[in-house]
Amino acid sequence: DIRHVIMDETGIRRALTRIAHEILEKNKGIDGCVFAGIRTRGVYLARRVAERVAEIEGKPVLAFDLDITSYRDDRDGAGQAEAPACAGIDPAEIRDKHVILFDDVLFTGRTIRAAMDAIMDVGRPRSIQLAVLVDRGHRELPIRPDYVGKNVPTARSESIGVSLKEVDGSDMVAIYGS
Ligand code: 5GP
Ligand code: MG
Repeated sequence: DIRHVIMDETGIRRALTRIAHEILEKNKGIDGCVFAGIRTRGVYLARRVAERVAEIEGKPVLAFDLDITSYRDDRDGAGQAEAPACAGIDPAEIRDKHVILFDDVLFTGRTIRAAMDAIMDVGRPRSIQLAVLVDRGHRELPIRPDYVGKNVPTARSESIGVSLKEVDGSDMVAIYGS
């Protein structure tokens, strides 16, 4: 396999710092915002950006975890019968809030559609926004990110490798050919 590094530790750090500033600019601060990190790696991206925001604004922002496996429409057993994705999330944490979803890679958009369903099942947010580390293209739904670490046009046969310290021991984004 051919591997091509797209972002190293410094590149990821800069991208997340920029996204923190973009979120603050778009939302005129952080009041009324909550972060939802999609498992697994989106969780850590949300937490890192929340830390940056806290440093910049001097105010905390809630970052909760979202597990949307049971909501995916293209998996067997999809549907509301399984454990709800937002179990343990207080509807008051979503109602009238700007909910900012975080994921590592945006591809067809199906995961984000499922995440939006999960959020809407809990409460009615003021808005839902999307932050991704990598947008690799190939959307199958009318979904676009509000905040992007890097746009990486890919072939369907290629894939993006995302390593984060909290999960993988180091920070790196690479593209793998076939
Ligand atoms: P989608 O639902 O948009 O088709 O795919 C996005 C989800 O699948 C994300 O949660 C992401 O983690 C994963 N994903 C899709 N394509 C890739 C890829 O090329 N690399 C990585 N690391 N994850 C991907
Ligand atoms: Mg994922």
